[in-house]
Amino acid sequence: MSVRAMKPRQRLKLRVAFIASEVVPFAKTGGLADVAGSLPPALAGLGIDVRTVMPKYRQVIAEHNTIQIGKDLAVDFIEYRKYFDREALYGDRFGDYPDNLERFTYFCKSVLTHLKTIDFKPDIIHCNDWQSALIPVYLKTTFKDDPFFARTRSMLTIHNLAYQGLFDKGLFPTLGLDGRYFGIDGLEFYDKINLLKGGILFADGITTVSPSYAQEIQTKEFGCGLEGVLRTRANDLEGVINGIDYRVWDPATDTHIARQFTVRTLSDKGFNKVDLQRTAALKVDRQIPVFGIISRLADQKGLDLISAIVTDLLKKDIQLVILGTGEDKYHLLYEKMAKLNPGKVSINLRFDATLAKKIYAGCDFFLMPSRYEPCGLGQMISMRYGTIPIVRLTGGLRDTVSDAGDDGSRGNGFTFTAYEAPALRDAVMRALAAFKNKKVWRKLQVRAMSCDFSWERSALRYAELYAKLLRKRC
Ligand code: ADP
Repeated sequence: MSVRAMKPRQRLKLRVAFIASEVVPFAKTGGLADVAGSLPPALAGLGIDVRTVMPKYRQVIAEHNTIQIGKDLAVDFIEYRKYFDREALYGDRFGDYPDNLERFTYFCKSVLTHLKTIDFKPDIIHCNDWQSALIPVYLKTTFKDDPFFARTRSMLTIHNLAYQGLFDKGLFPTLGLDGRYFGIDGLEFYDKINLLKGGILFADGITTVSPSYAQEIQTKEFGCGLEGVLRTRANDLEGVINGIDYRVWDPATDTHIARQFTVRTLSDKGFNKVDLQRTAALKVDRQIPVFGIISRLADQKGLDLISAIVTDLLKKDIQLVILGTGEDKYHLLYEKMAKLNPGKVSINLRFDATLAKKIYAGCDFFLMPSRYEPCGLGQMISMRYGTIPIVRLTGGLRDTVSDAGDDGSRGNGFTFTAYEAPALRDAVMRALAAFKNKKVWRKLQVRAMSCDFSWERSALRYAELYAKLLRKRC
């Protein structure tokens, strides 16, 4: 019987240790923390016994080193003040902490000894990104003959291949591994230590956060130098799309927005548009199409394409709200754009969770023309709020957004393929044209809002992959 066909309580009696260097609500710098905060509860909902393990950073507000969250879910913190009681997670304004290799080597080894101490014998140790990528390596080396882990399988999830955990080769002794593991078939990468590469080679199973990204990272264009290594593991590599937490992202219950709404009360979305226009100091007018961007201001996000078309676009009667932080060049550019277009462009260079919700709820369109996108959450959240995404077909955007066609009668968004400004402009123009036909637009919004991007769906897929790993000889 497949996992999907089982009733919740019948499902696999599995034990999973979920290891992450950041977990919402305890510590967050990026999307990994969202996944690590949402996937384990969804797995526990399937009856899987889950323990999440993370470092006890200064930011972690917890009296004890274990928090029991539900019958099948606990979070454990690895405490060591010298390494984790610091201002930030990975570095400060001077750059990455110079002892990051030492810190995360300590974390990985401690996770394994901790599981033994509390007698939590996992079927699966699910690791995430370079910070916990050494665990699969240790399971096959240092802990190879440890009977406690004899049946344990490891899974490594890659959230963004661009971050690999690269360190000077002189630090290799820190890992406590035999020197032969610093080679082309081991952790060596262009004469440096590459922790993610170690995880990719040693993990029993590998996943990344969308099926398209799983394919893309095996190519030179997206593989960040690891495409060859990933190709050697192609049979063990799968893409599972992230979910969004519907308890947080739901226009029917969201208390941060001006007026709650559902597919049946979609016209109430208009109150949120007016509220956003007031909050963002834009001209208040429900008829004006409003575009939103909520993003790290980084080259990955395709902001140069937006810069290339924005002057032309602003000649039309449209409005643009941007919320984000990141590279200085974008800060300067957008501040200038706002000055030149008062009442039309609103620039908000900060992290602001409440304004983000107002933007998702109040805009008509959500722009995400990413150069690459492992999964992307913004497009899924915006759809949930009836805000139509305009995206470039890459990675998770390709797997979640389908084109509405020239007349807006299909799909759930507007898409383009070539990483070129005219292609983005074309998608924007088609979106603006469809927006004019209120009936068509309403139907498109309903289709977008009705998509299922729940964590439950993704958790089922992970459960199936865990079961597959346990059946496999490793
Ligand atoms: P990435 O993880 O590459 O930054 P994602 O689309 O996967 O991009 O996730 C970004 C998440 O962070 C989304 O939930 C988005 O709403 C949120 N976000 C990004 N920038 C801001 C900001 N300045 N203020 C509030 N939320 C933000």
